[in-house]
Amino acid sequence: MRTTCPYCGVGCQVEPRLKEGRIVEVRGAEIPPNHGALCVKGRFGLDFPFSGKRLLYPMVRERKGAPLRRATWEEALDFAARRLLEVLGRRGPEALAVFPSAKTTNEEVYLAQKLARALLGTNHVDHCSRLCHSSSTAALSRSLGGASMTNPLEDIWKTDLFLVVGSNTTETHPVIGAMIKKRVRQGAQMIVVDPRYTGMAEASTLWLRVRPGTDLFLLNAMARFILEEGLWDRAYVEARTEGFAEWRASLEAYTLEEAERITGVEKEKIALAARLYATTERAGTYWAMGLTQHTKGTATVQALVNLALLTGKVGKEGAGLNPLRGQNNVQGAGDMGALPDVLPGYWKVADQEARRRFEALWATPLNPDPGLRMTEVYEAIPEVEAIYLIGEDPVTSEPHQDHLKAKLERLPFLIVQDILENETTPFADVVLPAASFLEEDGTFTNTDRRVQRVRKILDPPGEARPDWWITRELGKRLAQALGRPWSLHPGPEAIWEEIRQAVPEMVGGITYRRLEGEGVRWPCPQEDHPGEAVLFRQRFNTPSGKARFIPVHFTPPAETPSEEYPLVLSTGRVLYHWHGGTLSRNSRLQEAYPELKVEVNPKDAGRLGIHDGEIIQVVSRRGRIRARAWVTDRTPEGVVYAPFHFAEAPANRLTLDALDPTSRIPEYKVAAVRLEKL
Ligand code: SF4
Repeated sequence: MRTTCPYCGVGCQVEPRLKEGRIVEVRGAEIPPNHGALCVKGRFGLDFPFSGKRLLYPMVRERKGAPLRRATWEEALDFAARRLLEVLGRRGPEALAVFPSAKTTNEEVYLAQKLARALLGTNHVDHCSRLCHSSSTAALSRSLGGASMTNPLEDIWKTDLFLVVGSNTTETHPVIGAMIKKRVRQGAQMIVVDPRYTGMAEASTLWLRVRPGTDLFLLNAMARFILEEGLWDRAYVEARTEGFAEWRASLEAYTLEEAERITGVEKEKIALAARLYATTERAGTYWAMGLTQHTKGTATVQALVNLALLTGKVGKEGAGLNPLRGQNNVQGAGDMGALPDVLPGYWKVADQEARRRFEALWATPLNPDPGLRMTEVYEAIPEVEAIYLIGEDPVTSEPHQDHLKAKLERLPFLIVQDILENETTPFADVVLPAASFLEEDGTFTNTDRRVQRVRKILDPPGEARPDWWITRELGKRLAQALGRPWSLHPGPEAIWEEIRQAVPEMVGGITYRRLEGEGVRWPCPQEDHPGEAVLFRQRFNTPSGKARFIPVHFTPPAETPSEEYPLVLSTGRVLYHWHGGTLSRNSRLQEAYPELKVEVNPKDAGRLGIHDGEIIQVVSRRGRIRARAWVTDRTPEGVVYAPFHFAEAPANRLTLDALDPTSRIPEYKVAAVRLEKL
């Protein structure tokens, strides 16, 4: 049976073959988006549902300090509902937060945010996009009026030049990385902007090795050079954009000479990249966390958006602005309203007309005030008294781990709903065991807006239940106590039908029947609509229909190297593992990549007397971890790179919780550290 890979946003279609209830082989289905291809995670990483760390029955902690004890579903759900209602009654909706998961289905995200808004009355609703692409969402929304990839993955075959910024695509979105590299072998050019010598840098035709945290300066300098040389698309700018004059004036300081000094990239290379990008009609831009996870993440994405508008790259085939989404359903989680300021379909909670639509559908008044973002909610503990956390492990994924742990210790009530035990489970007051992607039906939406089916192949183990069922049952108890309406959907398809009603302009034309074949891309308003491939061909989704240039300026990272901490730590992922490691490290992938390896440049290693394979300590102002040194010139001199998958050596013990002022994304890519020999 065919289903969707639960790891990254590519959304590969997989065909697991089972024998005696175990996966013995996984094949890639011969349909889009992967056409038979899979990476190592899809092929060998799907056996985590059989892990001994599965949560098999509900558990409750009667009071702080008491142990978690096994409970029935009735007991656990009654207890959870009672505690949430107690906080609601005493402190009001602002003391409650709900975090749906980008690893659960669209139907489950929709239901969880509906529970928050329609029953608890809180807009403190958010998901892990806060930690990855919230900067992209902020910049794209305010400039274009929409926050997703503008172009489909098929456009890779029509692209003549790729501008890849801060994306180690080969390891983080491997099937897309392979597509791009194949297109480069066919003759397309590729400019890669990255401090590390990644697989994409290796395959590039031009590699710009920027200093971490300086991309914005480079992008503004490229724009200034394009203007100076008269290479910009005057007709496009005049017809389709606004704010050009003010933005142009803001670029005065961004000379090539100054860009070389700040970014470390030779000015001739910056000029060449600018010239190539401006003069190639079908030039597509792809980016990921290297660009977004900074205290100036929104501004940096904005600089990329400005550059694309200047050269007329948005709304055209083979071009566009394409943020590569991380989790399997992170696009869907945003679409379904798992954000503090928007309802499903990106309708703003502060917009009365938008609220009316959902108030009519859900038959209840809604809170008009945008909620706190995920990073702000954790800071607001203990004023925020209760969190319903679904499919997340913040202890591993949030920055400044010790600070986060101290906050969670002060949180009066935490519900953890997950499939596997993780680093956050010990902080829970209620543990609700959820079904995995193999054990339930539903839909995921991949990085290029393609809605695809998730199909049940196995029964969940023990007493685990699908997330939609758990949220429905918790909602039933809340609704009864509050005297509010709450639909008891019999299954995921019925929830999807409500979503079609809620946001018809987005997914009204997508039915489960249509999804029996290939997935369908939104927007798809009618059943005979094929789904929109390229966005913004005619107009942007802004009030004027025009895209906006917005001036942005370079500021240094929040923490820079010092005598005591002379190196820059950058964190990220590796091919074999996935984010907090909850899934991949409970699969066969763990054997292939069992421990943390920290990349150290040979010059730094030589200075410090560190040998390849030696166990060292990485120390920041916030803590220290032990790791094996990998001496390699993949990482530049002065920079160490650590993946964050390893709970026993958590890179996020070292990172800092400085936030972007707009998106509130943390600065994961630049922290000052030193290395110590044991
Ligand atoms: Fe799964 Fe992503 Fe690998 Fe495809 S590229 S198999 S979706 S992890």
